Amino acid sequence: MGSNKKVSKADYYEVLGVSRDASDQELKSAYRKQALKHHPDRNPGDHAAEEKFKEASEAYQVLSDADKRAAYDRYGHAGLGAQGFGAGPFAGGVDLGDIFGDLFGEMFSMGGVPRGGSRAQRQQRGDDLRFDLTIDFEDAIFGAETEVKIRRLGTCSVCKGQGSASGRGPSVCSQCQGHGQLRYQQGFFSVARTCAACGGAGSVISDPCTACRGEGRAATEIKLNVKVPAGVEAGTRIRYAGEGDAGRRGGPKGDLYIILAIRPHDFFERHGQDLYCVLPISFPQAALGAEFEIPGIDGPIDIRIPEGTQSGRELRVRGRGVPHLNEKGKGDLIVKVMVQIPRKLNRAQRELVTKLAETMTVDNKPTSPGLMEKMKDLFN
Ligand SMILES: [Zn+2]
Ligand SMILES: [Zn+2]
Repeated sequence: MGSNKKVSKADYYEVLGVSRDASDQELKSAYRKQALKHHPDRNPGDHAAEEKFKEASEAYQVLSDADKRAAYDRYGHAGLGAQGFGAGPFAGGVDLGDIFGDLFGEMFSMGGVPRGGSRAQRQQRGDDLRFDLTIDFEDAIFGAETEVKIRRLGTCSVCKGQGSASGRGPSVCSQCQGHGQLRYQQGFFSVARTCAACGGAGSVISDPCTACRGEGRAATEIKLNVKVPAGVEAGTRIRYAGEGDAGRRGGPKGDLYIILAIRPHDFFERHGQDLYCVLPISFPQAALGAEFEIPGIDGPIDIRIPEGTQSGRELRVRGRGVPHLNEKGKGDLIVKVMVQIPRKLNRAQRELVTKLAETMTVDNKPTSPGLMEKMKDLFN
């Protein structure tokens, strides 16, 4: 019933080939690279290149806007509204020319910016964590707040993440002088090997904290209040920056991703912003018309079955579906009526139906399924 038009879109960070914590500068240069490579002027008639170009432009436009990027980081594509990015970057809105002028104007003035320090100074970032949260059908529609328990590696409270008992912190590894690697000459080749003394960290702890054995972090369980916005879909990803595992020896914390699953409803199915249900009605109700109340997701709904309703007809109740995430307005409720033919009749009913049959004629000639569909439209 209905069709699910949700198209899974590529991750914007993957499109640009940058990490999730890429700086504005990194985004810009990644986009410039993609744009130069796939620009339609350079690839005339190449549809795939044009698609890539559009994709990269869209990704850059979202990620270069701090607000949009924050929404995307937390909720993914759903965070950018029900229409996602809309009809594409060329359909208006942001002027791509501005971005281009900006990018290419800078091209020649921008030198290579070295990033990151030497290996020894770089700290190990904690792992990102994934938590699967199943919420009720209604909670996905109206939003909810719920507390979850997350097991993660937290900063060791004894050594405050330093890893050393005295609080002196790590000292430079004497084996590799902080490089984390040892180099050997093998014939013509210089071979690098991870330093065994420090495990590649470039530093060692002479008096490891007994609570965390020098790791600076320990297993812990935290409670986290998760706010589920109204209108989320299954698979929505909510990001909590810095709520993942603590880094080794005071390294930066990873992120936590809450992935939403939604419990099925007794009778509603959801496709995008619309809700669907099936409503059985009797033959007399279909023929004579009827009015009654059905339970909606947000309260009772008056349903009017028009006279002569065909089985399978869909009635649309506007604005009684799912609210749009980050937007005003709601989807619709679509009620598909199914005329139920009694499997068994009692004597009185049989007499009435027989009388009715004598007054009715149906052309029992076969017809093509396509034509039948057209006739159904006429009845609607
Ligand atoms: Zn410790
Ligand atoms: Zn070392």
